[in-house]
Amino acid sequence: MTAHRRRIALLGATGSIGSSALDVIARHPDRFELAALSAHSRVDDLVALCERFRPAVAVIANEAGHAALRDGLAARGLATEARAGEAALDAIAADPDSDTVIAAIVGAAGVSSTLAAARAGKRLLLANKESVVLAGSVLMRTAAAHGACILPIDSEHNAIFQCLPADGGRGGVRRLLLTASGGPFRGRSRESLRLITPDEACAHPNWVMGRKISVDSATLMNKGLEVIEAHHLFGLPPERIEVVVHPQSVIHSLVDYVDGSVLAQLGNPDMRTALAYGLAWPERIDSGVAALDLAALARFDFSAPDPDAFPCLGLAYAALREGGTAPAILNAANEVAVAAFLAGRLPFLGISALIEATLATVAAEPADDLAVLLATDGEARRKAGELLSRMATA
Ligand code: NAD
Ligand code: MG
Repeated sequence: MTAHRRRIALLGATGSIGSSALDVIARHPDRFELAALSAHSRVDDLVALCERFRPAVAVIANEAGHAALRDGLAARGLATEARAGEAALDAIAADPDSDTVIAAIVGAAGVSSTLAAARAGKRLLLANKESVVLAGSVLMRTAAAHGACILPIDSEHNAIFQCLPADGGRGGVRRLLLTASGGPFRGRSRESLRLITPDEACAHPNWVMGRKISVDSATLMNKGLEVIEAHHLFGLPPERIEVVVHPQSVIHSLVDYVDGSVLAQLGNPDMRTALAYGLAWPERIDSGVAALDLAALARFDFSAPDPDAFPCLGLAYAALREGGTAPAILNAANEVAVAAFLAGRLPFLGISALIEATLATVAAEPADDLAVLLATDGEARRKAGELLSRMATA
């Protein structure tokens, strides 16, 4: 057991990953303490978390919440310092007061703080997959240059991390096999998905998650983003990363070796396993997740994804093969499309249509420079917004 307690900055503390992380942290007060917590705009929830976990700093990303956060903390007599805005997120990610950063913000909004943690050489528990899709090579380069240790929290990547050779090499690896639950619409025809509502799309059979990733799971874009994420984290080309549908979500992913061995990581579908692994690595600690009962599960099923009903997976592979700024365009268009779908401004099948149209409109360039990637992200969001208003009035 470690002599000193890990000091943790948790970005996205009020989200689904954030609350799973806090659940694990609270089980081990001898090992972990909170240095900083952040939320987007839910001030009251953030203050309540500060009262419970007593971090040195709390950040509300939306600047409009600054005064309410300061007053809320003062009213409870807490010594936690209130800060606001994106620069404050970067500051808590980089602050030497913490050694560990949990990147659990949703979307490209997490890119800057994720990179700040990498630049500061932190142990980086990486849930914010969009930052890897948008700026994967920059992130991996930055982490290597500054000695940051990236521990993947996405359950598939956490599984693969656990199944790869312990020496960090890729010797003998033939393929990575990412499992997909298939989402709430597995087995449905494209035609039957026309009238899907946001609540239907967010009702995932196995996982309770934030609304954006829930919609991504329903379109299979989540798996597409994860293929790109796996490429950057593990350094394998797209043709050696495959997706298999496994509706039980118990096999979290697999590594196929050249001798015919296939190693898999299994567990109940609960993100606390991956978070506990990342927090304690290379040790193992209790996560609160129940032991797997194989006899009760009785069976595992597998099938190939349906490219007709779920075109987003193919769009993601195509963007990864094209490389350069193409994944950034894909991610930006997806964020615009999902937000529009959740707001009732775009039908379910319009999500893939809008992404495809944006990819056809914004030219990808062979760049992996952060400034270029962020400029492309902005341009792709503008274009997707224009295409969206045309689609809505058509
Ligand atoms: P969520 O919507 O439940 O929580 C998102 C968190 O980010 C909240 O704390 C919110 O306040 C904060 N946030 C939102 N927008 C922000 C902004 N513009 N600036 C700063 N903070 C902002 O999302 P989640 O399901 O917890 O997912 C978080 C990340 O983890 C996503 O990238 C998701 O893809 C990834 N992930 C989630 C799961 C899961 O089981 N939920 C599994 C694997 C990966
Ligand atoms: Mg996942």
